[in-house]
Amino acid sequence: MSENDYGFETLQVRAGYKPENHNYSSSVPIYQTTAFNFGDTKRLGRLYSLQEEGFYYTRIANPTTEVLEKRIAALEGGTAAIAVASGMAAITYTLINVAECGGEIAAVKTLYSGSFNLFNHILPRFGIKVRWIEDSYDIESFRKAITPNTKAIFAESIGNPSISILDIEAVAKIAHENDIPLIVDNTLASPYLLNPIKYGADIVVHSATKAIGGHGAAVAGVIVESGKFNWGNGKFPQFTELDYSVQNRNIYEIFPLTAFTTRIRFRYLSDFGAAISPFNSYLIIQGIETLAVRVKQEVETTEEIVKYLSKHPKVSWVRYPSLQNDRNNKLAKKYLSKGSGTIFTFGFKGDQTAINNFINNLKLFSFVANIGDSKSLIVQPAVATHGTLSVEDRNNAGAFPEALRLSIGLEKAEDLIADLSQAFDKVM
Ligand code: PLP
Repeated sequence: MSENDYGFETLQVRAGYKPENHNYSSSVPIYQTTAFNFGDTKRLGRLYSLQEEGFYYTRIANPTTEVLEKRIAALEGGTAAIAVASGMAAITYTLINVAECGGEIAAVKTLYSGSFNLFNHILPRFGIKVRWIEDSYDIESFRKAITPNTKAIFAESIGNPSISILDIEAVAKIAHENDIPLIVDNTLASPYLLNPIKYGADIVVHSATKAIGGHGAAVAGVIVESGKFNWGNGKFPQFTELDYSVQNRNIYEIFPLTAFTTRIRFRYLSDFGAAISPFNSYLIIQGIETLAVRVKQEVETTEEIVKYLSKHPKVSWVRYPSLQNDRNNKLAKKYLSKGSGTIFTFGFKGDQTAINNFINNLKLFSFVANIGDSKSLIVQPAVATHGTLSVEDRNNAGAFPEALRLSIGLEKAEDLIADLSQAFDKVM
């Protein structure tokens, strides 16, 4: 049986690691080192001319981080992955790698605020423009946002905090009809609930800080490629021109199945430098080992909490795709058969003072601008994570003034419901 035949649960504890290559260490060792000895000058020559694979400087590659990269690639069904210092670094490197030299990106407007700000304020100053897709449910609007200069479509598989689901298959088809890749931020779903590559996505990015790491202990990001996109189709000369970072050779020709992440490694990770520390790679690997069991349990608890909130008199609405009346229900049935995730929003009936009282009276939920932790979290996106956006953009992203976002962890469902209940009672 080859690694490709193993199920998710096996891959999450085994993929990408061969103990015999690491002194038979049972646990993945932390290679806490800046540099690796070249050995001798001949070997240095072989490493730098790409005749031999090996490590020489942790900013570019590290054996602990390599295990993380291989494991995530296996869990997402990609040919390769690259790990970087944060989810935002993963998104930034992905976008500049695909659209450098003044390209455009067609992006869904309901994005995590960091990504929205990157598109809206930062990338344009570096010559990369965004064309917003206002309504991700209107599939034709993706086609309309594409111009001859568009280099990719970018969207979240589950929007944060809009909790809208992307019709990946339909959007990938439009991207491919236009010879451009579909890039999906799969953070909220996690590789356990959804593999966008299966449905035609070409690049998948994650904030591994969230469900993948799963314990709120380390910031990290990963980029995965499908290995199927044709970077030699004429729209992406950066992949086929002679490249200083690979000895003046053609990167797509040398690495046809891993050109996207290889190019990021040798250029952007190497020279912009947002490298993940080996210790953080280790923490994320530890998290991955229990990804399936954690997310499965958290989804069950989430469903119980959603049921409780849906009937509560102080709640005006609940946005969770598994709910029959949710706009995303049909898409959830297609893309999220193992559950609609552990993050959702609900509308609080009451003014800002009541919302503040409710949050301040919670004892178990942590008041934190994060998601995907093993501890349950609450935040009001409009005043925290999405506070820098205009009111219109906030509402567009689902960060309505009354919206509270919950991220459900591993506590007992009854205890979480009791906590919400006592906090509601204090503001009734
Ligand atoms: N993508 C999504 C969907 C997110 O929710 C976040 C952070 O909340 C990020 C990317 C950025 O990740 P990081 O905080 O690891 O930089």
